[in-house]
Amino acid sequence: MAASGDCDDRDGKPPAAGPLAEPDCFRRRLIRWFEKCGRDYPWRRTADPYAILVSEVMLQQTRIATVLERGYYRRWMEWFPDVATLATAPEDKVLLAWEGLGYYSRARNLQRAAVAIVRDHAGVFPRRLEEIRALPGAGRYTAAAVASFAWNAPEPLVDGNVVRIFARLMACDDPVDDPGVRERIWEWAAALVSRNRARLYNSALMELGQRICTPGQPACGECPVRRHCASFGGDPASRPRKAGRRATVEVTEHAVYVRRGKRVLLQLETGSRRRGLWRLPFRSPDGVAADPPVLTTSYSITHHRVRLVVHRPARIRRLDGEEWHPVDRLAELPMPGPFRRVLNQLLEMPAGRR
Ligand code: SF4
Repeated sequence: MAASGDCDDRDGKPPAAGPLAEPDCFRRRLIRWFEKCGRDYPWRRTADPYAILVSEVMLQQTRIATVLERGYYRRWMEWFPDVATLATAPEDKVLLAWEGLGYYSRARNLQRAAVAIVRDHAGVFPRRLEEIRALPGAGRYTAAAVASFAWNAPEPLVDGNVVRIFARLMACDDPVDDPGVRERIWEWAAALVSRNRARLYNSALMELGQRICTPGQPACGECPVRRHCASFGGDPASRPRKAGRRATVEVTEHAVYVRRGKRVLLQLETGSRRRGLWRLPFRSPDGVAADPPVLTTSYSITHHRVRLVVHRPARIRRLDGEEWHPVDRLAELPMPGPFRRVLNQLLEMPAGRR
């Protein structure tokens, strides 16, 4: 084993124990690589815990490219630059800023977290890990990410990227969706996190998962820590292993498109997932059996594959929760992404068809 601080660049046979055999070298190589070629993201230029929380929550289910290129992060920080502004913002505006990202409970939780900070912490972002973790929507990973990136706290981070990296580094063939295996990965992450450069170290680990140790075929030849990887030269793409994947469920939704002059009928979502968003009204299949579809499309949500069939009934009875909205004000209403696309398509159809 190399003595602490002795970390030469020669590539030898990877140790069977993975990075735990030479933790200092592992950290040093990872950080050195990141300092040389780490990417510059807006949330890496700030130590504001609120801005970091926003980025972490946004990136939970969304790719970095989407968040950046489609302006989600920039727009959110412009509309809600601080905790106090977000805490008092109208929910419609919060959902509109999130529109297209899906999993709207994330946006609602961010606002609830802002309210809790104003109410319980006099508007000052809490610094203790347990207090961050008590904020709505901030789980173990998110709380540690805020503490590490905002205050350089030596907290380990384990997300999907890190699970994959550690399963490969440690040649772990146990199913990573098993809670006991997950806990073991947290322990490895805790043993390796840098005590004084956690911000850099954790950023480097994330970047390794995004660019090198990717879900498909990892680029082991370019990996800065291949010397420490027990999967190097073997079959790293076969890891991580999972016990089971949730089957996709096929469902069909029947919606109606009814326009009267310059107004269109919409329904307010009440379900937990998309509550507060407006979409085309739903009807039972029997209720629209006589109305031929004007448009059929499909979209995915969690493990559901949804076939959305839109009908255009000649007459309609307005139900509770349904309202007429001016067509030229639709951009101001929060709407689930698939319904926004469908509605835009319908509005662009020649008058005879729509
Ligand atoms: Fe190991 Fe290859 Fe992943 Fe590097 S990229 S950690 S060498 S599997």
